[in-house]
Amino acid sequence: MRRTLIAGNWKMNGSLTSVESLINGIKDGLADVTNADMAVCPPAVYISTVKELIGDANIGLGSQNVCDQASGAFTGELAPSMLKEFNCSYAIIGHSERRSLYGESDELIAKRFAMAVQNGITPLFCIGETLEERESGVMEDVVSRQLDAVIDTQGIDAIAQCVIAYEPVWAIGTGVTASPEQAQAAHAFIRNKLAALSGDVADKVQILYGGSMNAGNAEELLSQPDIDGGLIGGAALKAEDFLAIGKSA
Ligand code: PEP
Repeated sequence: MRRTLIAGNWKMNGSLTSVESLINGIKDGLADVTNADMAVCPPAVYISTVKELIGDANIGLGSQNVCDQASGAFTGELAPSMLKEFNCSYAIIGHSERRSLYGESDELIAKRFAMAVQNGITPLFCIGETLEERESGVMEDVVSRQLDAVIDTQGIDAIAQCVIAYEPVWAIGTGVTASPEQAQAAHAFIRNKLAALSGDVADKVQILYGGSMNAGNAEELLSQPDIDGGLIGGAALKAEDFLAIGKSA
């Protein structure tokens, strides 16, 4: 039985003040979230503060990326060993904003994935098609290609060490959510593709949905058989909304 994971991607939002009230708010309501694990991925400069604020509360911590190298002359990057020092157990890898705005290729994303796994950090591995790709009928080809970048270089077993986040680009930050049927179909496609290589990996891997998930639509999305949680952007910035998504699991 796969656990449900609700992970918040705070993107480049927040301040010292808002981060403190957000974590305290999540902690205050956490006891009511009985059926999901909760995690937050703050901007890098707040990871240390968030770690202290979380204390011993059951909230996972993640970064929004991780370098594909261990250390050295890589200005602006974060080494996995650094993230481990601050209790980051997750790293978002391959977010569509990294792919489209910062030109991260499938190849680079696969290298970042490998470095995370080698260092005991679970990649929150984002894949998903643009609206143009969906409308031209190549959604399955796109998510296959994105998955294959990791499978072909690291083998199918590497997928068991990550959490996949299916995030249709057209649904991210737009307020347009994939319908439960659209999301389930994409998740089933992903799981079936994995099952063709390893039934164990396909059964085990959590596949989260991301793209305008909120307190109002979470329950229906999370009740789909192949949706094992959510990667939440906008709705993760308010404790009440984030907790409500956790409670709908
Ligand atoms: C995201 O950025 O991963 C995301 C899903 O954002 P939003 O929930 O705001 O669409």
